[in-house]
Amino acid sequence: MSGASSGPGEFHIRPLAHAATLGVVPELPEVETIRLELEPHVVGRRFERVEINDSRLARPFEPQAVAAELEGEIVSAVDRRGKYLIVRFDSGRSLLIHLRMTGSLRHAKGGGLADDPHQRAVVRLDDGSDVAYRDVRRFGTWLLLEPGELEPYLATKVGREPLERGFSARHLGERLQNRRAPLKAALLDQRTVAGLGNIYVDEALWRARLHPLRPAETLDADEVAQVTRAIKDALRAGILRQGASLRDYATPDGRRGRMQEEFRVYGREGEPCTRCGTPVDKIRAGGRGTWYCPTCQRLEPVQAASRSSRRPSRSSRHSSV
Ligand SMILES: [Zn+2]
Repeated sequence: MSGASSGPGEFHIRPLAHAATLGVVPELPEVETIRLELEPHVVGRRFERVEINDSRLARPFEPQAVAAELEGEIVSAVDRRGKYLIVRFDSGRSLLIHLRMTGSLRHAKGGGLADDPHQRAVVRLDDGSDVAYRDVRRFGTWLLLEPGELEPYLATKVGREPLERGFSARHLGERLQNRRAPLKAALLDQRTVAGLGNIYVDEALWRARLHPLRPAETLDADEVAQVTRAIKDALRAGILRQGASLRDYATPDGRRGRMQEEFRVYGREGEPCTRCGTPVDKIRAGGRGTWYCPTCQRLEPVQAASRSSRRPSRSSRHSSV
């Protein structure tokens, strides 16, 4: 009953050798973990004092102006859409936070925040506690939206939530049909699936036994069903372990996630696949470093060529899938 053999197959999962050099950008499981932790601390609380000390965070608006607008707002809910964190206010306004590369949020009792040169904003709540936003690379954004602006804004940016009922194999199949792009690129597109990024796409494709360079439109109905299930499983595994922490990500309570200990392929170049023992390979797909198992995730020559380019009738027949 030791935890060492909890993975499939006989090959144990070892700690990642180069964890500190791998970038981990927050994806759906990391943002959802932040949301779950932040929610009880901020719902019902008023933004007493807001400091934004980074000229880029609220662009194109002046940071002082946005900070002043936020003061007095009372939080009604903390939601998430894809990788966006949404702080909803009683007024009907909402603050849309995107952490991008290295953004994170911290909650602390009054005076409990450590000095931090990467702290970009601090919100003092009416119970005296603080929510701090830190961001080393400064790509994160805070966007204050007026009532009625949120849904139209998100509708142009993100597709369906993969862990909600509306995300079915049928829906994903519709999103992938007639797309010659590699599967990896198609799944990184936030309008195909909300919230997936480099880690969880690689992990989902390994689970589904599909090669990242397969043209998206060549998947048959069974394969679409496999990848749909694999996406849900990979994301749930991430949420269960409070996300993945390699370098910058931590939860609002300052703890680190544990998902990095469970990666099957991400960051594991040269290590044995936990299913078959073949060394994990690294390639580029969708413009990103991509890890996969060359044995479990084969790219047959027939699949490598886009079928619709060889057989023009394919795309019309494909639409019935
Ligand atoms: Zn394998």
